[in-house]
Amino acid sequence: MAPLPEQEALFRQFAGVCRLTYNLALEQRATWGRRHRLGYVAQAADLTKLRAAFDWVRAVYVSCQQQALRDLDRAFQNFFAGRASFPRPRRRGVHDSFGFPGREIVTKQLNANLSAVRLPKIGWVRFRDTRPIRGTVKNVTVSLDALGWHVAFTCEIAHDAPAARPEIVGIDRGVTTTLALSTGELLTLPESLAQIEARKRRAQRVVARRKRGSARRRRAQARVTRLQARQARIRRDFHHCAALRIARRFGVAVLEDLNTRAMTASARGTVAEPGRNVRQKAGLNRGILNAGWQQFATILTYKMEERGGQVVTVPARFTSQTCAACGVIDARSRESQARFACIGCGHTDHADVNAAITIRRRANSALLDVEGLHQQPVEASTGRDLMVSENPRPSRRGRC
Ligand SMILES: [Zn+2]
Repeated sequence: MAPLPEQEALFRQFAGVCRLTYNLALEQRATWGRRHRLGYVAQAADLTKLRAAFDWVRAVYVSCQQQALRDLDRAFQNFFAGRASFPRPRRRGVHDSFGFPGREIVTKQLNANLSAVRLPKIGWVRFRDTRPIRGTVKNVTVSLDALGWHVAFTCEIAHDAPAARPEIVGIDRGVTTTLALSTGELLTLPESLAQIEARKRRAQRVVARRKRGSARRRRAQARVTRLQARQARIRRDFHHCAALRIARRFGVAVLEDLNTRAMTASARGTVAEPGRNVRQKAGLNRGILNAGWQQFATILTYKMEERGGQVVTVPARFTSQTCAACGVIDARSRESQARFACIGCGHTDHADVNAAITIRRRANSALLDVEGLHQQPVEASTGRDLMVSENPRPSRRGRC
């Protein structure tokens, strides 16, 4: 977004007061919520009193504050439903945002790349279009990150469910190859991500050299944060493009059901029970986080559903060690990071494509009786330590 200086001052004021509203309401709920059955309605009534008492609270548009209360209400609903942890206070510099209900805003397109949005009490603000707004706008959120202010439109799209395409695709999410399809196609995150990573590492070393609390350290840290934000953008763009390509061609996409959080948590283990293969897993975890699998799954799901398709998840165990041709599970079949050569039948393929085909097959077998899944992978006595882990160690090249 490109707010004028006086608009940006308003942005900061709005974000600050909304954060305060959110945090006060959170404290109120944490203290009294259970006993008084506090919900959105009661808290909105309290907000009216708060606005009457303080000029600087009243100075900010009421809908934005109500939006903050609604956000909090949703956070609590997610918590009670077991989908999220207990809501935490919003922090300055981390959660600088405020929102409007969609019906209160107006947008207009200025040219091919630029649009403007009219925000109540703030006025017209220009922004760069990334994708067209479709359907009815439900919410509009204005937020600040290291790259500046952004506006996001949450839309509700009504569409007739088109007839689902019959084609099924299996997708293996990996470290070296980001996405391998059962059709043999390989999609990899752009090289630029690795270049930015290298720059980020250098920038992080600069931060370490700077004196704590100094202005130079703060500037160096800001640089790191900016690079991170750029990486996130590149990754998100890749996920959108890849998901669109898949959603246009296939009716069912099959993904591994990976509990990413559990996998990343298990590496270091606890003091009492240190994790195994810590170094390997640390490398793998970096890859997982880099690939942002969960984000991809979310984007793919909505793009598939929009077209009448669906995303199916299947158990992830041993997909990288199972032969797509004969179903034999053996760690030795995984010849290298890139190559799969079956010990049983001699079938060879790109290792990730082989896994993608196995994933696709698991959806076919109705998720129930997966052939050979009860077997443990065979330990080979080659003298070398074989990892009985789901994925082999990522190669240096694959780390970005
Ligand atoms: Zn085989």
